[in-house]
Amino acid sequence: MTLQDTLAPAGTFEVRNPGTGDVVGTYSVHTAEDVAAAVERARLAADWWQGLGYDERRRRLDRFRGVLARRINQLAGVISEEMGKPHGDAYLEVALVLDHLAWAGRNAEKVLGKRRAPAGLLNAHLGATVEYQALGVVGVIGPWNYPVFTPMGSIVYALAAGNTIVFKPSEFTPGVGAWLVDAFAQVVPEQPVLQLVTGDGSTGAALCRAGVDKIAFTGSTATAKRVMATCAETLTPVVAECGGKDALLVDEDADLRAAAEAAAWGGIANAGQSCIGVERIYVHAKVHDEFARILGEVVGGLRAGSDAGSDAGAPVGPITMPGQVEIIRRHLDDAIAGGAQLLAGTGEITGQTVQPAVLVGVPDDCSAVTEETFGPTLVLRAVQDMDEAVALTNASRYHLGASVFSRSNGTAIADRIRSGMVAVNSVFSFAVVPSVPFGGVGDSGFGRIHGEDGLREFCYAHTVVRQRFRPPLPLMSFGRTPQVEDRLAKIVALVHGGK
Ligand code: NDP
Repeated sequence: MTLQDTLAPAGTFEVRNPGTGDVVGTYSVHTAEDVAAAVERARLAADWWQGLGYDERRRRLDRFRGVLARRINQLAGVISEEMGKPHGDAYLEVALVLDHLAWAGRNAEKVLGKRRAPAGLLNAHLGATVEYQALGVVGVIGPWNYPVFTPMGSIVYALAAGNTIVFKPSEFTPGVGAWLVDAFAQVVPEQPVLQLVTGDGSTGAALCRAGVDKIAFTGSTATAKRVMATCAETLTPVVAECGGKDALLVDEDADLRAAAEAAAWGGIANAGQSCIGVERIYVHAKVHDEFARILGEVVGGLRAGSDAGSDAGAPVGPITMPGQVEIIRRHLDDAIAGGAQLLAGTGEITGQTVQPAVLVGVPDDCSAVTEETFGPTLVLRAVQDMDEAVALTNASRYHLGASVFSRSNGTAIADRIRSGMVAVNSVFSFAVVPSVPFGGVGDSGFGRIHGEDGLREFCYAHTVVRQRFRPPLPLMSFGRTPQVEDRLAKIVALVHGGK
């Protein structure tokens, strides 16, 4: 579906359930004027929100957390209806946000609040402080695949830091965005601190041009480039959380069943539509056959269908975006044409449902190995050792996350992987720990959400240096004498010259 294909009245668009095709909502296509007005309201609200201070903002975020927890099934229902993932997966997605809300509210002041900074030997007369001040208004542009967890990774941390938000969810999940904004208004009814604008890419582009103080973008690498180009017009900074092609590495001493089950879940849950989804598996040759046997057994038992349709209860949902189905089909076709074989599953495509598949014998330069597939498919390859596994992992243009399974060398292998995050003997674990940063390198983007870095991402550093008494050496003065310069030379030689 694109906005143009719908029968919705002018200025609106329909959202359809990807499993049933039913229309589940109609939303406005907000114009550039609408977006500018929302940003203007957000700017007025920013003073009020910042004025509440850390403690009161924390109380509001805690209450928001309570609303989410008490109405979690309702929100999970909206996610499931709009983007098709099974209700249980949608429930888990919301549950994982709650810890982030708690952590950001509790730690914002500690991370961002004013602190003293040492001034140095030559500057004993100076007292320095640094604090991180909220940028003002942050525009959040979100994807549909984790329509709560992903945008909330920016929204929660930006709010805790004192920013107000204008949120543009994906055109596939505007109802989820509306639900979040309505729930937040229950706990912050006074001012429009979190607002919603809906529409397609043009509404997102309008948000980039609307004079916000930062854009937090999550989506594909291709769109991130367009967002950056638009933001460049107004020198609006961007944090870009983009795609991935994550690898899972299995060493010869790994718990093979645990690794296989994690690989299947990491690659196939959410129908493979996870930025940090496992797409490539590199297994030590000594354990390859046994690992392949277990993985085949696990994946062979999975079935994709629609929670909302006749396949209720299928553990794997449909593909949300119709256009993505063609990309998955191309990657499967390219792999088979390149000599690959199906180890397990079928990869069969019916409408927007793709059955899980594990491919072996896929050439390293095949699209199924080099491009983000975003479907329930896994590419399995044997390697001679973990050096080869690390080299193949790092050969990608994407560097978002990775997973390593090894009983004794997990951390050492993890340290050699060029990516923002690595999970050892687990998958996705780095996304659920609120205190650690989340984000990528290379085509996976830049900037960080979550943790201390995620709070600072929505602030600017504000430094104040105060002269406490007259400097013993008046260096920055036209009254500087040759004697002062002579003493400076001696100090420089003493402090730095011996290095
Ligand atoms: P898209 O890049 O298609 O869209 C992302 C968002 O950008 C949507 O809200 C979209 O609006 C909007 N948009 C589209 N065009 C423009 C434009 N010209 N200017 C401003 N905004 C625009 O990504 P998807 O929604 O398909 O999400 C899937 C992608 O997101 C995958 O690549 C996945 O890996 C990545 N992702 C990355 C994560 C991370 O943390 N690194 C987490 C989750 C997903 P609309 O939908 O209305 O067109």
